[in-house]
Amino acid sequence: MQKAPHNGIKVGISSCLLGAKVRYDGGHKQSRYCQNVLVKYFDFQPLCPEMAIGLGTPRKTIRLVKDDDVIRVVASDGSFDVTDDMNKYSRETSATLHHLSGYILCAKSPSCGMERVTLYKAGTNNGQRDGVGVFAAQLMKDHPLLPIEEEGRLNDTLLRDNFITRVFAYHQWKCLVEDGLNLAKMISFHAQHKYLLMAHNPALYYKLGPMLSGNSGHQIEQVADEYVALFMQVLSTLPTRKSHSNTMSHLQGYFKSHLNSEQRVDLAHNIDKYRQGLLPLMAPLTLINHYLALYPDPYLVQQVYLHPHPDELKLRYSH
Ligand code: SF4
Repeated sequence: MQKAPHNGIKVGISSCLLGAKVRYDGGHKQSRYCQNVLVKYFDFQPLCPEMAIGLGTPRKTIRLVKDDDVIRVVASDGSFDVTDDMNKYSRETSATLHHLSGYILCAKSPSCGMERVTLYKAGTNNGQRDGVGVFAAQLMKDHPLLPIEEEGRLNDTLLRDNFITRVFAYHQWKCLVEDGLNLAKMISFHAQHKYLLMAHNPALYYKLGPMLSGNSGHQIEQVADEYVALFMQVLSTLPTRKSHSNTMSHLQGYFKSHLNSEQRVDLAHNIDKYRQGLLPLMAPLTLINHYLALYPDPYLVQQVYLHPHPDELKLRYSH
C-alpha cells in the first residue's frame, strides 16, 4: 500500500477493502482507489466486525434472519448464532468512533453493508434485499452526521465527489469544535462555505445563516449542534449542473469590473456549456480560479467551493 503523509483526517473502513484477508473465504475485497489514492489523504482506521467477534478466517458465511421483529445474525447453515456478540461489538465499537470524519463500508455484508443486504425470512431460504448490516446500522444510528458510503458507490464520480467533499468539510467542522467554539468562528466557517452550500442546496443554505444571528438565546453548543446538522444535510444533497452554474454566475459577478467584454462573454459561455453538459465542472472553475489569481478578492479566496478537496484527486474533471 502506497502510504503518504496525511493531514490527520481519520476515516473508518472495512478492513477487507484495504486488502486484509479477513473475508469468510480467506480473501479480501481490495479497493485500489482506497488503497492507492485515498490513503494519501485519509488516515484509515480499518475494522472487521466478523474477525473482531472471533469468527476467524476462513469461516462459514453468516446471514441476517428476520424472526418476528428481531434481526438475528446466524450461520447460513444454521449451526451457530452470533447475534448477541455482533450487537455487543457494534454498540461498544461504534461508541468509540467519534473521532472519525468519514467511513467507507463494504457492500452487501451482513455486518458492514449499509443497504440492500439480504434479509432472510426465518426458517426459509427466501430473502429480500432490504436489510442493513448490523455494524453499519449501529454506526449510522450513533453518528447521523458522519459521511458514510459504500465502496462500490464511489465508482460514481458524483457520489465520490460528494462523499469526499463531506469528509473534508466535516473534518474542518470537527477541528473548529476541538479548537473551542464561539460564534465568531462559526460565522467565519459559514462564510467560507457559502458558495459550496449554495451549490448543494440553495433553499436550505438560506436557513443556515440566521441560525448564527446570536438572537436565539440558546447556548453556543446547542446552536452549533443545530447548525452542523443542517450544514451536513445541505452537503448531502447532490449538486446539479443548474445549481453549480447558478453558483458560478454569482462568482462571475466578483470580476465584473476587471474583465473586458470578451472575457466576460467567454466565462459566461464556459458556465453555460457546463450547464448543458458539454464541459466538465473543472473547465469554468479553472477560468474562475485563473481570474481570481489575477484579481484576488479576499472573500472569494477563502471560498471552500473553489477547492473543497485536493485538486490532485481530480474529482471535478469527469462530471
Ligand atoms: S465486509 Fe466487514 S465483516 Fe466482512 S470481511 Fe469485510 S470488514 Fe470483515
